[in-house]
Amino acid sequence: MSFANLHLLLHILVPAIVVLSCFRQDWQRAIFLMLITLLVDLDHLLADPIYDSNRCSIGFHPLHALPLLPLYAVLCFFPRTRYLGIGLLIHMVLDSMDCRITVGVWFV
Ligand SMILES: [Zn+2]
Repeated sequence: MSFANLHLLLHILVPAIVVLSCFRQDWQRAIFLMLITLLVDLDHLLADPIYDSNRCSIGFHPLHALPLLPLYAVLCFFPRTRYLGIGLLIHMVLDSMDCRITVGVWFV
């Protein structure tokens, strides 16, 4: 398995583990809303090239901008947006770890 495929797999596995560990009673809604946060990567469509393995997403793509991260954290405090906030934060942490491993920085 390539590192890129592992990264994609983690975007599904980590939310699933969080849901099964913390939100088992509401797992269907929780996993749906956390996985729907993968749509945040649609901002890659604005970049040229769309995918560059040597580019750090965090701080580069509009929905991965650093000023949005506190907003994503705030979403976690409200029941109606909690799963979206957690999903977005998991996504940003995984992308930042990807940056650190592939490019050597946590964000740009
Ligand atoms: Zn991303």
